[in-house]
Amino acid sequence: MIDMDDVITIKGFERLVKEFLGYELDWKQAGENYYWQDLLEDKKDDFFQFFITKNMYDYVDIREDSIRVIEKLNNEYDVYICTDYIWREVIENAGLNLKNKYDFLYRNFPFLDPRKFIFVGDKSIINCDIKIDDKLTNLSGNCELKLLFSEQHNKNLSDKYLKEQEVIRVNDWNEIEKIILEGVNCL
Ligand SMILES: [Mg+2]
Repeated sequence: MIDMDDVITIKGFERLVKEFLGYELDWKQAGENYYWQDLLEDKKDDFFQFFITKNMYDYVDIREDSIRVIEKLNNEYDVYICTDYIWREVIENAGLNLKNKYDFLYRNFPFLDPRKFIFVGDKSIINCDIKIDDKLTNLSGNCELKLLFSEQHNKNLSDKYLKEQEVIRVNDWNEIEKIILEGVNCL
């Protein structure tokens, strides 16, 4: 089970924030851990009204090596892309986000069976052997291998804590390739 936002796609949300504000937020001021939407404070509602007029996936970069490694994984495993499509701030527009996600995945991952795209609001219902996500709570449940993709909002989770949770931190897709396909043990 592979997450989409911040694991495959990056920078979309922050680019939209920048376009909305007309300037770049100084994230270093924000401390160690944050989600972009938390930095908007009283502009948050206006931002999300702007946000729903855009397709965030027109603004994203695809993480280096993700397509290559996912294609390799797909030759060995049943790969599912599992992504939450509901922005709580604009829940009535979630259907649009689902379409944008589907179109993006369909276009950029032609080797994946679209029937293996899973759109959810709650990932805890999914059981898989391997989970890759940037959000720790999405790695819960029975699972043989849990990989946490490093992001600003999970930076402060210590190695010790992650080890207790039996979670391995990964920083890029080459590490994922080594751990899953080459059996490199990082625990
Ligand atoms: Mg994510």
